[in-house]
Order: sequence, then C-alpha cells, then structure tokens
Amino acid sequence: ANKSYGFIGLGNMGYPMASNLHKSLKPEDSLVVFDVVEGRLQQFLKEHPEKVSAATNVSEVAEKSDTVVTMLPEPEHVRNVFEEIQKSNVKTTTFVDCSTIDAQTTKDIATMVKQKLGGSFWDAPVSGGTVGAKNGTLTFMVGCPSDEFVQAEKLLKTMGGRIINCGATGTGIAAKLANNYALAIHNIATAEAMNLGIRLGLDKNVLASILNTSTGRCWPSEVNNPVPGVIETAPASRDYQGGFGISLMRKDLGLALEAAKTSESKLTLGEDAYKVYKAAEKEPDCAGRDFSVVYRWLGGKE
Ligand code: NAD
Repeated sequence: ANKSYGFIGLGNMGYPMASNLHKSLKPEDSLVVFDVVEGRLQQFLKEHPEKVSAATNVSEVAEKSDTVVTMLPEPEHVRNVFEEIQKSNVKTTTFVDCSTIDAQTTKDIATMVKQKLGGSFWDAPVSGGTVGAKNGTLTFMVGCPSDEFVQAEKLLKTMGGRIINCGATGTGIAAKLANNYALAIHNIATAEAMNLGIRLGLDKNVLASILNTSTGRCWPSEVNNPVPGVIETAPASRDYQGGFGISLMRKDLGLALEAAKTSESKLTLGEDAYKVYKAAEKEPDCAGRDFSVVYRWLGGKE
C-alpha cells in the first residue's frame, strides 16, 4: 500500500533527514513538508521535485500523512505544533519526535496522542550532528512500546545508521540528555586542556594527538577539536561555522539540569558548565557558532 509521510521542521538537521527519508520513498509514496520559514520549504521543493508537496500549516501535514516526523528546536515549539495538530482532522497514526526536548513534554505529548488521537508516539532524538544527518548515519535513541520498535527501526533506518531501543516512551529523551550532559562537559574540558597545554608551550597538534591516544580522548578532542587547524573538518577550522550551535548546547544542558532535579541526580559540574555556555553565547564573536567556540571564549590562541 502507498505510504504518506509528513515532516515538520526543515532546519540544519531536519532538512537533510527529510531528504534521506525522501530517497527511500517508493513511487506510490508521498511526503508533505512544513517549516515556518518559507525559504526552507521552497528550497526543499526545488531540490526534490517528485513525490513532495509543501503544507501551508502544521494541521495540513497531520491531515495528509500516516506518519509524521518532527525535528524542532525547543520544547515550546514541539508543544505548539502538537497543540495545533490536536485541533485538526488528524489522519496520522504514528508521530515520531526527533527533537531534543525535556522528559515532561515528551510524556505529556505521548499521553495526548494516545488518549485523544488514538495514535502512537515515539521519542527518537538523534546524535551524529549535521554531518550524520546528511550522510544518513545518525544514531537514533528510541523510546516506544516494545511491540512497535521493529516498525520504528524500519522507518528510522532510512535516516540513520544505529537505531537503539532504549525502552518505554521517554527513555529515548533520557538517553539523549545523559549523553549531551557528558558532551557539554567534555567540550569544556577539552577546550580548557588544549588552552592550558598550548599556553604552557606545547604545539597544538602534538597535544591533540596525545589526548587522542591517551586517556583524555573524547569526541570533542578527536572529531570536533575546538582549536582551529587541528582537525580540518571541525567547525573550529572554519571560524566555528555550522555544527552544533552553542545555544542548542546551552538548551540541552538546561534540560539535563531540569531532569536531574526531578530525578534527584547530582550533577556537580552542570551549573558551572551552564554558566560557561550562557556567557559565551552572548559574546558577539561566539554567538550563533558551534559550541566548540568555548575555546575562543576562554581566550585560546587561534
Ligand atoms: P534548527 O534551528 O536549524 O531547525 C529547526 C527548524 O524548525 C527551523 O527550520 C525552524 O524554522 C523550524 N520551526 C520552528 N518552529 C516551527 C514550527 N512551529 N513549525 C514548523 N517549523 C518550525 O535546529 P536543528 O539544528 O535542526 O536542531 C533541531 C533539533 O535537533 C534540536 O532540538 C536540537 O537540539 C537537536 N539536535 C541538533 C543537532 C545539531 O547538530 N544541530 C544534533 C542532534 C540533535
């Protein structure tokens, strides 16, 4: 049977994800896309002339698609979108939210979908960044009823490499927040360690290779090194453009701190790290850049 898909949020991540989903469509399938930024929609239509239509609002997506994927910035955007969907004449039976949001919003929406719309809701946040989104190699952390995982895996394989069954609804988000807490700390630690070593007279490449073959090794040191010129493909080597925005990192860390409160988990470094991102995102030469720009905020040599 023909399948109809909807995709809401064609941003840095959503656009390439929707593009990969489109690649997997059979001739009889269809895809409806929507973003509040008209330019993104028009660009998507231009680049994917077949089997795709643009919706004029969120309701239209839910009215035309069996499966809807959302990839939005923050919890409030996801809430707003689902409030609008609730009021429409919904055809959708499966909703998949890939945004990084908080556990409570996820739970509330999952309950609403089940009770009011009689559909399924999966939380399926991702890691792998914009490069992973483009290459279709994202890792999906999926929270869903156990008997729905096979179906979730099949859909998400069109956009990702590793599809992980985290458990019941909400556990995908829990996994994502825990991972990004570690990432937030690793990034600052790497920037500080690189800055320290360089100021003590070490060559940046020598120091990076020591970290990467020793116990200090982590994703920020190895793949996303914050010092310009160490890793050719890292945002630091292109004035910190693209990548994972510092404001999104600050947001994710805030969500982890919130989750720590409700679950009574001690995060001893969280508040201090939050202050670092909050201060750095306000500096004109750091704002809007990849979160590794913390190195610049520290006054690191570039
Ligand atoms: P983005 O800001 O680039 O894209 C979000 C898109 O949503 C924008 O195009 C925006 O116009 C659109 N949007 C906002 N409100 C909308 C609405 N009401 N209806 C329709 N569209 C709306 O953000 P992104 O980098 O694509 O990230 C999306 C989510 O994925 C975030 O939660 C982020 O934390 C998470 N994430 C990002 C990365 C990354 O590397 N960028 C990696 C993993 C996870």
